[in-house]
Amino acid sequence: MRYKYIKPSNKFPKFIFITGGVMSGLGKGIVASSVAKLLQLTGLKVTCTKIDPYVNYDAGTMNPTAHGEVFVTDDGGECDMDMGNYERFLNSPMTKWHNITTGRIYSDVIKAEREGKYLGQCVQIIPHVTDVIKKSLKNIAKEYDVLVVECGGTVGDIESLPFLESFRQMELEEGDSETLFIHVTLAPILDVVGEQKTKPTQHSVQELRRIGIHPYILAVRCQKPLRKEARHKISMFASIKEQCVISCHDCSSIYDVPEILKDQGIIDVISGKLELKNRKIRWTEWEKITDSFFNFSGNVNIGIVGKYVNLPDSYISVYQALLHSSAKLGRKLNVEWIDSEKFENGSKDEVKVLNKFDGILVPGGFGIRGSEGIINSINFVRERNIPFLGICFGFQLSLIEFARNQCAITDASSQEFNPDDDNSLVKFMPEQEHALNLGGSMRLGKHDITIVPRTLADKIYQNNKIQRRHRHRYEFNQDYRQIMEEKGMVLSGHSDMGRRIEILEIPSNKFFFAVQYHSEFSSIPGRPEEAFKAFITSCT
Ligand code: GLN
Repeated sequence: MRYKYIKPSNKFPKFIFITGGVMSGLGKGIVASSVAKLLQLTGLKVTCTKIDPYVNYDAGTMNPTAHGEVFVTDDGGECDMDMGNYERFLNSPMTKWHNITTGRIYSDVIKAEREGKYLGQCVQIIPHVTDVIKKSLKNIAKEYDVLVVECGGTVGDIESLPFLESFRQMELEEGDSETLFIHVTLAPILDVVGEQKTKPTQHSVQELRRIGIHPYILAVRCQKPLRKEARHKISMFASIKEQCVISCHDCSSIYDVPEILKDQGIIDVISGKLELKNRKIRWTEWEKITDSFFNFSGNVNIGIVGKYVNLPDSYISVYQALLHSSAKLGRKLNVEWIDSEKFENGSKDEVKVLNKFDGILVPGGFGIRGSEGIINSINFVRERNIPFLGICFGFQLSLIEFARNQCAITDASSQEFNPDDDNSLVKFMPEQEHALNLGGSMRLGKHDITIVPRTLADKIYQNNKIQRRHRHRYEFNQDYRQIMEEKGMVLSGHSDMGRRIEILEIPSNKFFFAVQYHSEFSSIPGRPEEAFKAFITSCT
């Protein structure tokens, strides 16, 4: 019999399922992270999982301008950007297994079918696919008290149905006090009177109930705090207790959301339902961090020159890392996103707009489009001695700029742009040559980096070994090392026994620092990543 086991109450792990209604982009990820944070602050061991109902195996092959940043985990997972929020809120590393996609589930099911694991059976969505989903969730939850599961998309999407069905089954199998559903909806204001409309929320709860899920808490996104009348109306029509209708109104910092939820008693509501018994929140430390996002003694103005700037979510971790550093240093961060394509063919006059910034950052990127514009920008900031931080693509293009303009290697380029040129300054990593697929075939995840003593990197990290995450196919060709060093570039970090260069700096500049790794993935509020902090320090 399938549903034989009903766990007794007050057993762990507990599962909190976050679903979304009305429309996408409501900030389910922030609600999930905030709920997880609050529970963590009560002393529980908490983690999050993101479910992406798309058929891709992972986020690695998706365009960041359509889907946002690809977040890289220590173990080399190419994940949904919400995983970055979880890490930043919880200060605990996620693994690639914390990000589940339809592609991954189906590939597990098909693999098992080919191995004969379902011999004699007709393999179906229920129970075979839902079993694999439930097993994946329980596997993650094993080492935790609470697993917060965020399901991407909006209720009613075809893709998310097998996942929602699995949650429904889990409620039955795990027990009432082991599972809780939070539905994130929207109360829009349409007229000048400013009435918060509740009908979209009512409809979306009905849609969820139709597939057998009864949300316990509604997190209602709204511009201004949810009014008493709107809360009452939602409670009555959606048949949800009034104290379980939580206002998630706009606020200036995402790190304030836990406080907004806490002040409405969400922890008591969750503790009651999950029988967690008198959880007390240890608030002071988190409050100190969130307060730092408001107390400023001045501004810092940063220009980000990149390829995917039309959607700032493409570089969300870079933005967050800048924010963490600015807050730590008591500065209000102003960021301007600049599309490098507009500096592509122009005269030097055009890049002059970069003069107004305290510092320029060039983040990661792929492909030739916009790369000459970035190189022109780097040339400008290097010559003007404007503080500069380059990341991954930014590191590679800094090498090219320096080689062209300081070492007279006028044709310096990357093999990414000229695949036939094996002598490129930035060349394809030989280890990647065997990779047949584009998915998951880059140099990914955490690697050890050795820092060269008595360099800026040494001063920044105060450590001779660090570990950072990577996501790249190309690297510096060390045949050019000598000339670059003779002309004043210092290569101050390396990995894989010196086989790859990880950090460059130009000591004659105020701050010119670039890294092959993605330092942005290692920054959390209250503990900014060191290179970002040093960059912002040099900008103030
Ligand atoms: N396109 C470059 C490479 O693959 C840089 C990658 C990146 O910026 N993440 O090496």
